[in-house]
Amino acid sequence: MIQLRNVSKFYYSKGMIASGISRVNLDFDLGEFVVITGESGSGKSTLLNVISGLDSYEEGEMYINGKETSHYLASDFEDYRKKYIGNIFQNFNLVNSYTVYQNIELILRINGYSKEVMRRRVDEIIDRVGLSAFRKTKVSKLSGGQRQRVSIARALAKDTDIIVADEPTGNLDSESAAGIVALLSEIARDKLVIVVTHNYDQFEAYATRRIKMHDGKVIENVHVVPIPPASGQQHAGSAGRMSTGSVLRLGVRNTFNIFYKFLLLLIVFLFLVFSVSSQYTSFVNKQYENSILGYNSYFYNYSNDRVVLKKSDKGLFTEDDYTALGRIDNIKTVAPNDILLDSSIYVEGDMLTVEAFPRSISEFSGEPDLGRLPEQPGEALLKGPNDGYFMSDDSAEAMLDQSFEAWFGDSEEMKVTIVGIKYEPVDEAAVSYSGEIYLTDEQIQQMRTDLYSSGSTIITTINGKDMEAGMGDYYYRVMKSDYVPKGNAVVSEEISNFYLNEESQDLNMKAAIGHDISVQVRNMFYQEKMNLKISDVYTEKTFKDKTGDSNYDEHDGAIYISNEDFRTLFEKGNYQCSVYLDDLKKADETVQAIRDLGYVALPLKDTVVGMDEDIVSMVEVPISILIILAIFCISYIVAGLILRSRSSYFSILRMLGLAKKIIRWILNVEVLLVANIAYGIFLIVISLVRRGVIEIEYMQTLVQFLQMRDYVILYLLICVMALLISAWFSRRLFRKTAMGSFREEE
Ligand code: ADP
Ligand code: MG
Repeated sequence: MIQLRNVSKFYYSKGMIASGISRVNLDFDLGEFVVITGESGSGKSTLLNVISGLDSYEEGEMYINGKETSHYLASDFEDYRKKYIGNIFQNFNLVNSYTVYQNIELILRINGYSKEVMRRRVDEIIDRVGLSAFRKTKVSKLSGGQRQRVSIARALAKDTDIIVADEPTGNLDSESAAGIVALLSEIARDKLVIVVTHNYDQFEAYATRRIKMHDGKVIENVHVVPIPPASGQQHAGSAGRMSTGSVLRLGVRNTFNIFYKFLLLLIVFLFLVFSVSSQYTSFVNKQYENSILGYNSYFYNYSNDRVVLKKSDKGLFTEDDYTALGRIDNIKTVAPNDILLDSSIYVEGDMLTVEAFPRSISEFSGEPDLGRLPEQPGEALLKGPNDGYFMSDDSAEAMLDQSFEAWFGDSEEMKVTIVGIKYEPVDEAAVSYSGEIYLTDEQIQQMRTDLYSSGSTIITTINGKDMEAGMGDYYYRVMKSDYVPKGNAVVSEEISNFYLNEESQDLNMKAAIGHDISVQVRNMFYQEKMNLKISDVYTEKTFKDKTGDSNYDEHDGAIYISNEDFRTLFEKGNYQCSVYLDDLKKADETVQAIRDLGYVALPLKDTVVGMDEDIVSMVEVPISILIILAIFCISYIVAGLILRSRSSYFSILRMLGLAKKIIRWILNVEVLLVANIAYGIFLIVISLVRRGVIEIEYMQTLVQFLQMRDYVILYLLICVMALLISAWFSRRLFRKTAMGSFREEE
């Protein structure tokens, strides 16, 4: 059945070559009971490992049923072991955390037996080796003799033609040893049994052949009794491949089998899940802040209780929006005219300058302390602390009913008359406090129109060329004029020159009249395009007559259009809105409620004012990624250390003939299961935080930013990390031969 011809095996270690066995010639047949003896280091184990396909050989040829094996790959030897070999070891190689039943069942699972066959056979075999009383006992609780019985039972269960036993009685007292020898002889019928021993006498009664080894060579090979005629009965050997169900079963069993190992691995994965999710959140958070900051990259009025909102469809805010927002708990005021909040009005008189943020009078509550409420455009109510800086009682009275010049953003100078004063208590906590100036809605609308106009980039297409007016430029900017009819445009000489006939070089300043000109408005909220017909051209002399504007020096180059067209371009509602909160401690809840209504919300208390967002994202994103990688590496190393305690388990599986691919899957199931449990715990914690059962601030901010999509991404991330950990570990495990990785454990 097995023939060895001049087989040699060498060990390489630290540059030295040691010979395990050299030029061994032996034949083995079914029905034999071969006993191998020899002093320690003579090559007995090496011979057995080569015969059982656990180790490779370097020279000569081994024939199995007449077939050469020198070209065998690792997978061929796996098949061979599975089909022919039952191993029994001096140190048993049992899975200590499994029960007797599970250890024997394992080998049947590996060989793909059906459930019913497994149950019947395992019980039958446990009876046969006399361990019925210990069926459900963990192997770690058994004595040496009992353990060796389990390992014989395992070899029996496999029912292979060849049983190979390396010093099976080496670790046993003489009484247990006698029992084991008897058991071995009993199962030897019709099989080939090869036993290595120090004590030939123990086996003498049953041996059919004696082999003695010395220095890697066979020095004695005697048939002590003739081989009994084989009954011809074939052994079942391998039934098939391990089923997917068995892979799952083993993976799940191994997960919980050794509780402290499960716990440690779970802690590693909890660490992984929580730290990756918090890093991920800060990354999402940063991106989100950047996206909303893109709409208004600088908040001048950054009081802590302000939350800036836009609609998720980027549309205009309507009364319905303001009402819905006003209904949310903890919102003190809704400030619809948000973009005005970031530009203050300077009111300047002979004796004073006041800087205040414009608000609509409809947002004012209470009664003025002096004077009355504004009723028409140009009238204003000033509100602020009379702290001696903003105003004092004296200055307040002096200001009342006086008209002042005022500036708002880049817009034109305007006149305001202060008709009312409201004092406000001094707020020590305020980050930057200016007063507020309350104006009529009509005036607010006009200011907003001005702001859209001065804050927009305007692209004018003149005779096919696009000219751009940046913010603050008057060249190519649109201005309104009472003198221009709807649909028309009055342009400068310079613009008119675009339409000159190049050949004629004729200086005809009227060249542009009758031509089309188009104006496109772009700002952070909307875009608008309009086609106009050039109806006239102004020069320095005719400027005032044709436009009604007297500031030629500054406004030369501008395009004058009708009031109506100007309104079409710039008189827009609010694309951004702010709310002010009552209780800052409940800010996160309120912000969540706002987001639940479908708005994009940026609480200003969370923004770092003065830092450039691009720098934030350029630095933060790679840092987040680096931290996640670092977390992953730490987890990998720790998980690797924990899993290393499983190396011997996986070596046992390999020695029992299980293919690498399947072992890899058992490991995958185990690691993935722990990862999933960790993720499940994470979700439970999240839902407790959401319900307010757990109040950890870090968790609360974390929860606030996570959406369904993020949970899915996180889950996939964790699973991929788990599979990577499993893959790296199994690659390390399989770098060595089954024997090699096992030796390391010893
Ligand atoms: P035995 O089982 O008879 O005690 P072995 O087969 O274990 O002998 O060893 C045979 C020879 O091979 C010994 O000289 C031993 O030092 C050497 N050997 C065995 N295993 C290794 C190994 N993993 N690395 C290097 N040398 C080894
Ligand atoms: Mg040995």
